[in-house]
Amino acid sequence: MASIGLDNIVKAYGSLEVIHGVSVDIDDGDFVVLVGPSGCGKSTLLRMIAGLEDITAGTLSIGGTVVNNLPPKKRNIAMVFQNYALYPHMTVGQNMGFSLKLGGVPKAEIGHKVEAAAKALGLAELLDRFPGQLSGGQRQRVAMGRAIVRDPQVFLFDEPLSNLDAKLRVVMRAEIKSLQASLGTTTVYVTHDQVEAMTMADKIVVMNAGRVEQIGSPLKLFNEPDNMFVASFIGSPM
Ligand code: ADP
Ligand code: MG
Repeated sequence: MASIGLDNIVKAYGSLEVIHGVSVDIDDGDFVVLVGPSGCGKSTLLRMIAGLEDITAGTLSIGGTVVNNLPPKKRNIAMVFQNYALYPHMTVGQNMGFSLKLGGVPKAEIGHKVEAAAKALGLAELLDRFPGQLSGGQRQRVAMGRAIVRDPQVFLFDEPLSNLDAKLRVVMRAEIKSLQASLGTTTVYVTHDQVEAMTMADKIVVMNAGRVEQIGSPLKLFNEPDNMFVASFIGSPM
């Protein structure tokens, strides 16, 4: 677990600046949701936290240490995407243990971690199946399993439920919430879905066009939006 600090983060692709100085403090163990319309910079911000994009300016710290130049592998972060990208030729168990195997973790320890994660995710009976034999929700659970076996200090989710149907989305929201609560892992969750943000977040960061419009609890944003953008995006009666 770790706190995350974004201090005046800027991102430019060539001469095009897309993140214009974003500052957010995330407490250890918090579930923070980044929400905003498509193209506002959510994924870019998340990828900078993960170390998958260079930071043009500003300071990123994790657990109080500046990590601007730390490679992704050294950040102890696990990321779950909307396209789960499971390996089709590997079983559920092999998919979940693969990153540990690459990291040289002994086989027996991999087995224990995969079993524990599978149990927590309701996948214990499915470890020998292949991704092609799973439902969308099951595949999403495997993607989460791959993340949790690594005992990361931070979880990053980028619209992980957007490929699922509405009913399953509601179920998976609750599952992700309860899993995060039981592990206590600091989590940054990206979505463009206001309802998802309102129901899942301890703290919401509302973004618009590369800037933060407001940060606060769901209740605070609903009751006291700072401006029209937040009010209309969150759906409060302003
Ligand atoms: P979101 O995840 O909120 O939909 P993104 O972070 O993907 O938004 O994108 C933010 C902005 O940055 C968009 O205008 C997008 O076109 C631009 N962008 C993202 N990735 C690149 C890239 N590799 N090169 C140039 N522009 C990019
Ligand atoms: Mg995105």
